[in-house]
Amino acid sequence: MPIRRIRFLLLLAILCGGAAVAQAQSTPGQLPGTAMPTITSVPPGAQASPNFNADTATDAYLALIPPQAKARSDAYFEGGYWMILWDFVYVVVVMLILLNLGWSAGMRNLAERITRFKPLQTLVYWGQYLVLTTAMMFPLSVYEDFFREHKYGLATQTFGPWLWDQFKGLLVSLVLGGILVMVLFGIVRRLSRTWWIWGAAVSIVFSVIVVLIAPVYLVPIFNTPKRLDDPKITQPILRMARANGIPVHDVYEIDASKQTTRMSANVSGFDSTMRITLNDNLLRRGSPEEIQAVMGHEMGHYVLDHIYNSILFLSVVIVIFFAFLRWSLDASLKRWGEKWKIRGIGDTAVLPLVMLLGSIFFFVLTPVLNTYTRTQEHEADMFGLNASRQPDGMAQAAIHLGEYRKMSPGTVEEWVFFDHPSGRHRIHDAMVWKAENLNLPQLQRGSAP
Ligand SMILES: [Zn+2]
Repeated sequence: MPIRRIRFLLLLAILCGGAAVAQAQSTPGQLPGTAMPTITSVPPGAQASPNFNADTATDAYLALIPPQAKARSDAYFEGGYWMILWDFVYVVVVMLILLNLGWSAGMRNLAERITRFKPLQTLVYWGQYLVLTTAMMFPLSVYEDFFREHKYGLATQTFGPWLWDQFKGLLVSLVLGGILVMVLFGIVRRLSRTWWIWGAAVSIVFSVIVVLIAPVYLVPIFNTPKRLDDPKITQPILRMARANGIPVHDVYEIDASKQTTRMSANVSGFDSTMRITLNDNLLRRGSPEEIQAVMGHEMGHYVLDHIYNSILFLSVVIVIFFAFLRWSLDASLKRWGEKWKIRGIGDTAVLPLVMLLGSIFFFVLTPVLNTYTRTQEHEADMFGLNASRQPDGMAQAAIHLGEYRKMSPGTVEEWVFFDHPSGRHRIHDAMVWKAENLNLPQLQRGSAP
């Protein structure tokens, strides 16, 4: 489900440096009493009957969640709100240190001593920048992505393998980010007036290429996707795919349990690399009905062209971001350029300032990006209900996903922080759908969700 991660993180990972590509992969372990329940039969209040009521049915499902599981899920997710703030503040402080203590200018000077060739200077600067910022960000990364994930029973990796994943993420950022900064600084140096337009265009093309190659070249760096060949699982999925005009022949499984206990699935890539992937946690813990509901949702992303729409949306965001950069870089350099020993926007030493301004821009945009993604996720939910006809499977999936997403947030809270509809919302949508389709034979049987 987190196609958002593929979308935004892969791009931001590269723009913001650090090892976010690894973060896109890393996640959930499990403490007793904290896992969300696996429901073996439809609760009485949600069973098909002439008195079926969507609100009552929603409450009946939510009542199955043990209080300590709910408390833990709320604490984890609400803590995440603070993490957004701390991540932002931390990055701002790191970038200000690099600028004010002259470290950025120092790294540029060293790069200039090593080589006279401009693109290589940029690459050498990038390498120093990436290693230094990764080291400075490390305490926060360890807390946020390792200790905190373990504390909430979501992580399965010991420290060594986790660190190894971080290292691989760093190498990916070194290569992909290195290519991007070399091209971008080349543009800025040659086209001093229109650089922001060409820079935006190159960034868009670059992010499209990353999305395209990710399932085939990036994901396997961290995990091992393989074709799923259990006909009991694949046949209903492929039948559903064909019925919705999706030309896939294979469903992929990924060994996400290597890093996490989270259940998830996603649609990734596009054109020839587009594929539907289920993670092994979903396969292990999900009922057939639940897996079908989740797959219906993923097919919704596919049929509704969500990846293409997201690229278009992201393109608009990138253009606005570059326009903002053009204005804010000029203004900042006029004021502090001399103090920071930055010669101009074509000077690689400006990079921490770009990251600082980027952090502010994307921090402010958090609710907008979340709402864009959440809207698509809701569309995929509705498509999935129609395609799978498994409202109870959908309710079960929403409860399982509640292990890492607060079930019942307030309206504003959901708008600002949620990149998927909340569990309560998803169950309610499923129960409204059920109320409208009570005459379907499989709903009459009241089989397990
Ligand atoms: Zn989704």
